[in-house]
Amino acid sequence: MIMILNKGTTPEDVAFLQHKIRELGCDSRVVFDAQHPVIAILGTPHAPLPLMSLEAYECVNSIVTVHQKYKLASREYHPEDTIVNVGDFKVGGGHTAIIAGPCAVESYEQMRHTVSDLVKSGVSIIRGGVFKPRTSPYDFQGLGREGLDILGEIKNEFKVAVVTEVISPTHVESVSQVADCFQIGARNSQNYNLLEAVAQGGKPVLLKRGMSTTIEEWILGAEYLLLNGCPGVILCERGIRTFEHAARNTLDVTAVAVAKRETHLPVIVDPSHAGGRLDLVLPLARAGIAAGADGVIVESHYLPREARSDATQQIPSADFGTFLANLQPMINAMKTCRK
Ligand code: PEP
Ligand code: MN
Repeated sequence: MIMILNKGTTPEDVAFLQHKIRELGCDSRVVFDAQHPVIAILGTPHAPLPLMSLEAYECVNSIVTVHQKYKLASREYHPEDTIVNVGDFKVGGGHTAIIAGPCAVESYEQMRHTVSDLVKSGVSIIRGGVFKPRTSPYDFQGLGREGLDILGEIKNEFKVAVVTEVISPTHVESVSQVADCFQIGARNSQNYNLLEAVAQGGKPVLLKRGMSTTIEEWILGAEYLLLNGCPGVILCERGIRTFEHAARNTLDVTAVAVAKRETHLPVIVDPSHAGGRLDLVLPLARAGIAAGADGVIVESHYLPREARSDATQQIPSADFGTFLANLQPMINAMKTCRK
């Protein structure tokens, strides 16, 4: 259950309500939602009726019973689409996100060449990993803090917003100095200690779906973030592991439609990690948008063949304008459908 409080509710009111909720056998957590402070009621009350009677207090706006396992993420609790602010840019609620950049930050020169092309194509949110979760310990692991400094320089130079991955709670503080949005990668989508730490980092989070997680598990990951104070969550479907080997992963467009129906959060797709090949990026991006996605996150590098990771799937940044021109008709078509 979610108790929605009115603006101006005092800390004393909140303490009183939490005490009442405890008396009824439940724990609670105060969350500052974008519009209202809310109290998330954890557990099932042994007396639901007295709990509902707390609605009589002036500071309580309403008490909502949410039937899904996830509460704060659900559309039942929050029927309107949520718009997430990434730096100065909006994602969701009709704002289509185009996030692009290399798999990994490799050098200042690489970032400058790549981002300069991307910005010319109209991209304003840049991705780039500095802490890379690699399947093989022998592969390039990212530049770490040096990469963060490069991202900081690029951000100032091009006035872009930056999304970058966090793989350890110990990095949250330093990454938050540069990032406008944290990324939680597929391999960490159920790393609950990390989710809690990142939620408290004061920035929105782009939460990838794990390659073997169900839609419900993915949304429950978002619930961890919201319950722990995360100011905004963007869900990202990046392909799941199936019996099919023709592509790196299988983009689950069903998950996009379900997540849009079940949650109020923006949902985007990552056609680069889904397909794993350059020629699949555009069709999968179009498929994601057609399924209702609020945007895409796409890998792009100024010299893909020299990329230190994911070379086969990165769009040459000089071609990014063409890629976007080919995607735009689908974005426009979906905007017309929504009307
Ligand atoms: C990435 O975005 O570079 C990445 C590692 O993605 P994923 O977590 O989806 O594999
Ligand atoms: Mn990658």
